Amino acid sequence: MSSGELIWSEEGWAGADFPQNAKQAVNDSQLRRNVRKATGTIRERRAGLVAETPDWRQLRRAGAAIKDDVLHHLDGYLEEFERNATARGAHVHWARDAQEAARTVTDLVRATGHTEVIKVKSMATQEIGLVKALEQAGIAAHETDLAEMILQLSNDRPSHIVVPALHRNRAEIRRIFLDGMDDAPKDLSDDPHALAEAARLHLRRLFLRTKVAVSGANFAIAETGGLLVAESEGNGRMCLTLPDTLISVVGIEKLLPTWRDLEVFLQLLPRSSTGERMNPYNSVWSGVTPGDGPQSVHIVLLDNGRTKALADNIGRQALRCIRCAACLNVCPVYERTGGHAYGATYPGPIGAILTPLLAGVEHAPQLPFASSLCGACYEVCPVEIDIPTVLVKLRHDAVKAERHRLQDATFAAAAQAMSGRRRWTLALKLAPLVRLVRQGAPPPLSGWTRTRDLPDPPPESFREWWTKHR
Ligand code: SF4
Repeated sequence: MSSGELIWSEEGWAGADFPQNAKQAVNDSQLRRNVRKATGTIRERRAGLVAETPDWRQLRRAGAAIKDDVLHHLDGYLEEFERNATARGAHVHWARDAQEAARTVTDLVRATGHTEVIKVKSMATQEIGLVKALEQAGIAAHETDLAEMILQLSNDRPSHIVVPALHRNRAEIRRIFLDGMDDAPKDLSDDPHALAEAARLHLRRLFLRTKVAVSGANFAIAETGGLLVAESEGNGRMCLTLPDTLISVVGIEKLLPTWRDLEVFLQLLPRSSTGERMNPYNSVWSGVTPGDGPQSVHIVLLDNGRTKALADNIGRQALRCIRCAACLNVCPVYERTGGHAYGATYPGPIGAILTPLLAGVEHAPQLPFASSLCGACYEVCPVEIDIPTVLVKLRHDAVKAERHRLQDATFAAAAQAMSGRRRWTLALKLAPLVRLVRQGAPPPLSGWTRTRDLPDPPPESFREWWTKHR
């Protein structure tokens, strides 16, 4: 595919014309103000907490080492996870790609006989376009994370991994609530407490009536078969505990070998993501506990390009990512363009490497160039992903893919021309046009002729000579 074509997004396949999108975004001064304010606040909070953690460097090293161990022994840990989750009453399903995962979840919801689900904020479910897939099957999926709910009400898309509505300010949110929420008080102000209270009352009704929930997971623990969701609002916990059925979509790279490993990640994640010492809510569950919480628990383990990324020697480190978004908050490109410009589920520096790795660089050739290579993302990454090095490698792959695409097109055209006598005769008649190309070829041919000599075609072809002389 050429630049500007399609890559995977929260709604399925979406355009990823970064240069064009970025040009529009930088002209939106309100958007830039909102993004700068929000990322600046989180950046400062994170920096303060990292400064007060004396063993931060060792924690980062440990985080990277644990994740590398997982990636090197992924098959074994996945089987261990499945064994332990199944032994504790969960049903484990495997999904090769987004469509299979969305179909599995849809079938599971249908089997319950219910037509609505409540959703915990989850990047994996966005990646597979789950809300749309459920909608198409006649199932209403209600986002319960406050920011996700704001986006759903306004038919908008997330622009940040941790703070998906970061491009919206309070006044805009008030308007969205008044327009989209039937039960919003008519005199609603843009005071954050008033907005949160209106959302709380709205969501409470959903929590009490809905019998099926869908979540992702921050970590999956091979040793116990358990999943962990970390969040700030408590809405996730309501979804994870109140319904009868819980379905979790989990990327296969989310594994940790042991329970003990959480010691490292529950220090790295909150400091890096929201600038807190710990997440207000860490919910952990392992299969089914009789009489307590959902009695039907399903886990959909999602590949969707991850094993392909794993095969990339340099790119595989992207699978260490714990989706903290610290790299977004320090990125000078993200700060000016916001997240929508990336046209994919994962924005910012991590998106610039993860999307091409998952979807194939030929489907997102512009994203590795959406960076100044300043290295700030590597500095803050809690699992030491060397994003600049991966970006450079992917740029190389993107250029190579584009070259192959042109070569393939050229050889396909030549094969067509040579596959029939009349076509070949016609092609030979067009040969003199090569002289025009020599004098100044239009793009993309100019890229080829800039550094290569194109020989003049002979004044007459062999066929013409043969016809003339025999
Ligand atoms: S790449 Fe690193 S900093 Fe960026 S989201 Fe992933 S873990 Fe966080």
